[in-house]
Amino acid sequence: MLTVNAYAATSPTDPLVPTTIQRRDVGPTDVLIAIRYAGICHSDIHTVRGDWGPIAYPQVVGHEIVGEVVEVGAEVSRHAVGDRVGVGCMVNSCRECENCRAGMENYCLRGNTQTYASVDRDGTVTQGGYSTHVVVDQDFVLRVPEAIPYEAAAPLLCAGITTYSPLAHWNAGPGKRVAVVGMGGLGHLAVKLAVAMGAEVTVLSQSLSKEADGRRFGASGYYATSDPATFEALANTFDLIVNTVSAPLDLGAYLRLLRLDGTMVNVGAPPEPLPIQVFTLFGNRRTFAGSSIGSIAETQEMLDFCAEHGIATEIELIDAAGINDAYERVLRSDVRYRFVIDTATLG
Ligand code: NAP
Ligand code: ZN
Ligand code: ZN
Repeated sequence: MLTVNAYAATSPTDPLVPTTIQRRDVGPTDVLIAIRYAGICHSDIHTVRGDWGPIAYPQVVGHEIVGEVVEVGAEVSRHAVGDRVGVGCMVNSCRECENCRAGMENYCLRGNTQTYASVDRDGTVTQGGYSTHVVVDQDFVLRVPEAIPYEAAAPLLCAGITTYSPLAHWNAGPGKRVAVVGMGGLGHLAVKLAVAMGAEVTVLSQSLSKEADGRRFGASGYYATSDPATFEALANTFDLIVNTVSAPLDLGAYLRLLRLDGTMVNVGAPPEPLPIQVFTLFGNRRTFAGSSIGSIAETQEMLDFCAEHGIATEIELIDAAGINDAYERVLRSDVRYRFVIDTATLG
């Protein structure tokens, strides 16, 4: 076992605190990674605050991890010491179910092993990336291209793949009008990715305060959802709407912005159920869908796509001591556009 520095939540309400945790010995197919940077995803906050249900404390979160391989098991063939690698939201899956066999381990029918707050194969609860080291099976470790700056690569492992996957699945591309709702961590990457795929992209944000940034990321339209005129002006417009908002929304108002055969895909994960008036779906034969991160193969594809198109996350680099302030700023939608922890400051 390896004892490593980390930051953990001890209750739904108390600030995260420095601690140490144990990482398992490196098994035959495992890779030991020295973590350099870890992104702060809104899911980390939902989890530690108990939004999605009770969890066991203390809990270390973080599933946007990049670092260097420092040790490999005897049977590891996919990664070598010194490689620049990443880990996202999952660290294992059953590998046997229909979805795993189809290479869609993010939809494992037995539930994939999440990077944190999940029961691991040895019965322990997984601990995430706000730590200096992690041990992960080689099949769940990604190659991070040199072309992507290290710290800006970390958030791609969750925010990047979570938006890339629905954009790719619903064919965002030339001739398609795509709207991104909420321009936070996921949202700003959704804009950059959809633009790189060739789509015409519009941002729907609570206000116009980030319009200059949205246009710099390539959006050609930018509207405030606090203005009721937005919903009249954009009725029956979009082929695809990607909703990244972490709180409940009036879905009907957004669904009415879809044109014929358009799809609204929810990646935002508020704990509350969201009601839908089915007649809104009848109009324009609309679809309401969900999407959960992406497979390991698709995550690699996304990282390679980002390297090829010069896409990286806009980040604010923080020390470990800044994690609790960063949480408060994310909750106030005051994020430009992802906080990333320099793990050298974990103690
Ligand atoms: P984030 O950085 O906080 O961004 C969310 C954005 O939503 C905010 O920046 C804000 O954008 C908008 N927003 C927040 N509260 C709002 C409200 N009350 N009404 C309207 N708009 C609001 O969060 P994130 O890290 O991108 O994550 C977003 C959500 O996706 C979270 O619920 C997270 O758990 C979920 N998620 C899901 C998956 C998946 O696999 N499906 C993966 C990762 C994350 P504006 O200021 O532009 O309005
Ligand atoms: Zn996440
Ligand atoms: Zn499975």
